[in-house]
Amino acid sequence: MYKIPNLVYANDKGEIFDHPTLKMAVRSANYDFVPYEAELIRLPDSSRLYFMPDTRPVAYDQEAANLTEFKGGNAVSVFLPPGFLRLFLPAYRKTKDYIMPLYAYTAVGYLDGHFVVPAIQVDDISKWNPANYDFSENFDKKVEDFLKNNPENRLYRQLAVCAVKYHCTAAKNVFYPRWECPMPTSPACNASCVGCISLQPAECCPSPQARLSFAPTPEEIADVALRHAEKARDPIISFGQGCEGDPVMAADNIAGAVKIIKKSMPSLTVNFNSNCSVPDKVKKVLDAGVDSVRVSLNSVVEETYNAYYRPRGYELADVVKSIEHVKEAGAFLQLNLLMFPGVSDRAGEAAALLDFIDEHKVDLIQTRNLNIDAELLFSHLRFGPEEIHGVKNLLRLIKKRRPEIQFGYFNRMKDDFYKNTGFPDLRPPKKGRSAI
Ligand code: SF4
Ligand code: SF4
Repeated sequence: MYKIPNLVYANDKGEIFDHPTLKMAVRSANYDFVPYEAELIRLPDSSRLYFMPDTRPVAYDQEAANLTEFKGGNAVSVFLPPGFLRLFLPAYRKTKDYIMPLYAYTAVGYLDGHFVVPAIQVDDISKWNPANYDFSENFDKKVEDFLKNNPENRLYRQLAVCAVKYHCTAAKNVFYPRWECPMPTSPACNASCVGCISLQPAECCPSPQARLSFAPTPEEIADVALRHAEKARDPIISFGQGCEGDPVMAADNIAGAVKIIKKSMPSLTVNFNSNCSVPDKVKKVLDAGVDSVRVSLNSVVEETYNAYYRPRGYELADVVKSIEHVKEAGAFLQLNLLMFPGVSDRAGEAAALLDFIDEHKVDLIQTRNLNIDAELLFSHLRFGPEEIHGVKNLLRLIKKRRPEIQFGYFNRMKDDFYKNTGFPDLRPPKKGRSAI
């Protein structure tokens, strides 16, 4: 057997240690186990470790050859930087009944002087590396100066809040200016996702962001987009980056704005990221000139989709109809697949997904880590016993079924839609060469 990484745990002050004898265990669905070496990589730069209060880690006791609950500390998790997909959750038990904040909990161990995590890089991170972004007060000053020169447009004030208060890296791009410009447009949504990061019922868990409170006009949207495109390197305009309402509810304003943008700059890449729940509205933005549509879903199995999205007034069939419109319009079709170990990689879910991507000729899957407490998620989902392939194996099955499909994490400029980034590397590791 390979050298299993040590258990990582934290005391109540948040100080982090590795255990001298107990070993790392991980979790998928409700199963705890020891990960294979091929599933681990060194902790990526810009990751952050944090402890999970009121939990006990589950560890592997090599001498006794069994899993055990370690009572001497709290479980530890990792925030992975964008561009990395988690393969397993931390293995832990809660010591009190509570719902943890909406984070993408990821296991961590320690081996030969390094932290290791079960994860895989799925996209080129050169633009999105947190090291490229200023999180200090110097940046706040830059935003203040920018606003002084652009005092009228409400959208700039919203983007300033997103950039400075929420530290949204996409929003920071607006003030550099460079790369992808997010365009919050919708205060409303017709779903009620269990893990919505912009709106949560009081009894659940805190939302990291407060929802946008106004609907920008087509002129306000086009103004921000065109000013960005004039000054920025590699500009992209993206509606619906994840923590507002859903832009499908603002499709009329967006279509109006896209017409203005495309009239003035036809070559500018415009992305529409949405739950795509209203086919006529999706058609409207496509007709206006949107280049790429990214459809957000956690599953293509109706029961699993409904249990998480809790749609109001639409069905998964409407999302499928929108997808057909995307293909008819010749736009680039991406899925924003909200992945969770032990859900997305279950045999039934995987089989349905393989048929779906084949039937609808999906161009790219953005593999996203679903931010949610596992107990909260599984309290909403009902599964019988079935095989779990593993997240990495799921990606391999997808590639086998549809070799031309690409994986990624970020939106792309038009010229790069079909570019092979080389990620993720799904080859089995060469003998004698370890990624850790
Ligand atoms: S679709 Fe998006 S905005 Fe709507 S509830 Fe779900 S996560 Fe929230
Ligand atoms: S709404 Fe969310 S994703 Fe969009 S700019 Fe603001 S913080 Fe960023």
